[in-house]
Amino acid sequence: MSPFVIPRPDIASLPVTGTSARFPVRRIYCVGRNYLAHVREMNEGADERDPPFFFQKPADSIVHDGENVPYPTLTKSLHHEVELVVAISKGGARIPQEQALDHVFGYGVGIDLTRRDLQTVAKDKGWPWEMGKSFDHSAPLSALAPASEVGHRADLAITLAVNGKTRQSSTVAHMTWSVPEIISKLSEHYRLEPGDIIMTGTPEGVGAVAAGDVIEASVEGLPSLKVTLTEPLSS
Ligand code: MN
Repeated sequence: MSPFVIPRPDIASLPVTGTSARFPVRRIYCVGRNYLAHVREMNEGADERDPPFFFQKPADSIVHDGENVPYPTLTKSLHHEVELVVAISKGGARIPQEQALDHVFGYGVGIDLTRRDLQTVAKDKGWPWEMGKSFDHSAPLSALAPASEVGHRADLAITLAVNGKTRQSSTVAHMTWSVPEIISKLSEHYRLEPGDIIMTGTPEGVGAVAAGDVIEASVEGLPSLKVTLTEPLSS
């Protein structure tokens, strides 16, 4: 007999290249404003030297490679943001930058789907970003490649195309805060644990997508990610 009074929710997980075993996902952390050209395109007047700030998406908002994303409710402006994804395999708090990469299991690519109109309202009103960022199906994520196979390169090309046309094209070298700096800063706010995922911010070129669009995200040398946007769910 189940020890739970309702069915237990499934734990989210990601495929890993080279094995049939999966990476279990505990939390998804996201970094805001981590590429200068994107900060400028958003024209927010943000201090370009602000420390990194973070928000979360629920682990059950993950969409896998090849799956569909139903167009979300309550928005007329769903935006794509391609991001390098870091998977954490070793926990810790106040992790020094010099040791940060020892905590990394591997890397992938993700899309921080954003209800931009709702995010803009939240910014204007000083509300949290959740309704703009943390909705159902808001976290398409690729499979992960272990760092033991792909290393820790800080110069990888990052791109996103919609219906075959490139919209975002940069390199992760343009991140304001590097992966070790992000891990170090994030672990001051929260104790990191195995299974945590970090989406590291998006370069310039974000824009709207519509039902029927095919979105392809890639970071050089890592598993790729393709999802199709479909009509809104009816129930
Ligand atoms: Mn983002």
